[in-house]
Amino acid sequence: MERISKISELKPLLKKAKQNGKIIGLVPTMGFLHQGHLSLVKKIKKKVDIVVMSIFVNPTQFGEGEDLDKYPRDLKRDSKLSKKVGVDYLFTPGESEIYRENFQTEVSVKELQRGLCGQKRPGHFNGVTTIVTKLFNIVDPDFAIFGEKDFQQLRIIEQMVRDLNFDIKILHGEIIREDNGLAISSRNKYLDDQEKQRAQGLRKILLYGKKLLTDIITKNNKNITVDEIKLKLKKKLKEKYDINKIDYINIIDYETLSDIQEIKKQDIVIAAAIYVGKTRLIDNIIIKH
Ligand code: AMP
Repeated sequence: MERISKISELKPLLKKAKQNGKIIGLVPTMGFLHQGHLSLVKKIKKKVDIVVMSIFVNPTQFGEGEDLDKYPRDLKRDSKLSKKVGVDYLFTPGESEIYRENFQTEVSVKELQRGLCGQKRPGHFNGVTTIVTKLFNIVDPDFAIFGEKDFQQLRIIEQMVRDLNFDIKILHGEIIREDNGLAISSRNKYLDDQEKQRAQGLRKILLYGKKLLTDIITKNNKNITVDEIKLKLKKKLKEKYDINKIDYINIIDYETLSDIQEIKKQDIVIAAAIYVGKTRLIDNIIIKH
């Protein structure tokens, strides 16, 4: 594996590889690697000849008062892990390499970012789509992979690829969890033992929500509405798991991300963002029709 920080070094290497017929895959991350990130490498490796992983804690996707400064970083450990899992090029640019003086362009996917995390974190997804566009232009991959853990992000990237005619196939990585069900995240590092315990409630209520929705779908249960399900899940989070700050628990359409009032023939996602202590955690569950 080669670690490269300069765009001017990475680009010609990948250009040459492409000319030689190699298929290139990109795995964008913010580092502090865990099994979730590594699972993306393992999946994309089946499709491509060369895997590029980027590690860049992108300042423009953090809002004021968010955790940019304390976001965990460990490049030495990340280098070892990415090498072990078979990354070919680890791209680790500095901030000034990505955002040169007088940088002033922004990419924005308008509709899909209106709700959910986009509503709670204004500007976040413009930061994401802008950095991902830059990475796409720098690496020129044939495939790129994004985790379903950040479901809204994944759908926004897919929309952007379609809207801007990127010739890149987007792969989905399923959510990797700890044995206790907690979705693995670099931010889990902030949780103490007691908070980790409470955080497990998030997965539990998503599974409960899935059961209730499945009853509506398969048993045509008309005794409960989608709004009532949301209330039930919020109540359970508060009363059973002592989670009092809930950013959102939404029941949404898989394609449009818009709130569902009445279940029709469609794929559904229950998406949630909560605070456990000071740590914001997100998770979701997909219910295919
Ligand atoms: P991040 O470093 O948090 O920006 O994440 C980089 C990529 O890893 C994104 O596509 C995430 O959706 C994905 N990812 C993060 N956590 C997980 C997880 N537990 N399982 C699968 N993918 C994940």
